[in-house]
Amino acid sequence: MTSPQANPAYPRPRETPTNAPMLAAWREGTLALQKCGACGHVFFYPRSVCPKCWDPGLAWISSDGRGRIVSFSRVHRGLSAAFIDEAPIVLAEVAVTEGALMLARVVCDDAQAVKSALPVRLLSLPEAARYPLPTFSLD
Ligand SMILES: [Zn+2]
Repeated sequence: MTSPQANPAYPRPRETPTNAPMLAAWREGTLALQKCGACGHVFFYPRSVCPKCWDPGLAWISSDGRGRIVSFSRVHRGLSAAFIDEAPIVLAEVAVTEGALMLARVVCDDAQAVKSALPVRLLSLPEAARYPLPTFSLD
């Protein structure tokens, strides 16, 4: 079986020392989150200090890849050319099991079926390889 290739037309994130562990985990089909050693806050996107208490003592944890949609938008217009053929794109705020809130794409066959509070699951490989950032599907 061959893995689908990442769409070269999709915008790619710029890799930095701060986000490199998350991007490496995603290339393996997993979601890496940061957890603050001082206050326990779990968060996404990657940062160099905790957004809650500003402590730099952060550790990477692995998410179970499950979450729920908090809110979402069906994006029809203003999309980059790479996404126009896929409109509407569902962009959602997802609360993952570990407590982090993240903005992520939810791919599905019917964007009208997306509702707040629906469970989502992280895409797994090989499908995940198509997307440059952590992406979910309806569970
Ligand atoms: Zn903290």
